[in-house]
Amino acid sequence: MRVLLVEDDPALGSAVRDYLARDGHAVDWVERAGAARACLPGNYAAIVLDLGLPDGDGLALLPDIRRQAEPPAVLILTARDRLSDRVRGLDAGADDYVVKPFDLPELAARLRAVARRRAGRHAPVIELGALTIDPAAHVVARDGCPVDLTAHEYALVVALAEHPQRVLTRTQLEDTLYALDRGTVSNVVEVYVSRLRRKFGAGAIRTVRGIGYQWGAVDGDGGKARP
Ligand code: CA
Repeated sequence: MRVLLVEDDPALGSAVRDYLARDGHAVDWVERAGAARACLPGNYAAIVLDLGLPDGDGLALLPDIRRQAEPPAVLILTARDRLSDRVRGLDAGADDYVVKPFDLPELAARLRAVARRRAGRHAPVIELGALTIDPAAHVVARDGCPVDLTAHEYALVVALAEHPQRVLTRTQLEDTLYALDRGTVSNVVEVYVSRLRRKFGAGAIRTVRGIGYQWGAVDGDGGKARP
């Protein structure tokens, strides 16, 4: 998913960005509240928000974030560990609150949990007919058999399958794949869609003409071809 990281500590910021990128997320990292505000709205599924920023308090961003049509999940990441700070952060609209120092795997797990709640999902595993996706293990399976996917193919499957009732535009899907420094991308979504159709069947992803793409159906015959 696409994540905005707002953190002014260079070492911590790059460590979090790199870890989340390895976990399959497209991460935009900014170090100031003003830069974060300039990124909004931005098709983010989640925002990891430091509170002590050089140009203001991260909490001041929450109203702007909440005003979006589809507000991202917000996970506060801060050294402020008093009970009153945590209560204030959560009451201001944050979905979770992590106190520094913290472990990167826990941050990634909490991010998955808030994203899950945001998507209205309770189960940690996504099940759609013959398809199952386990975001914690990064495993996509068809009829119980793991399917080999590249990081970008995986990100695209998760984006589409997490909201099977929605049509996602090409821009939204590009945002899932690339951070802001994406450079020039052209037709990349089409390329991955056709690769995924080869792996899951032509009906797995529907093209909605003039709008974008929607998850379709995966036939349950994936296992039969195997010995
Ligand atoms: Ca800070």
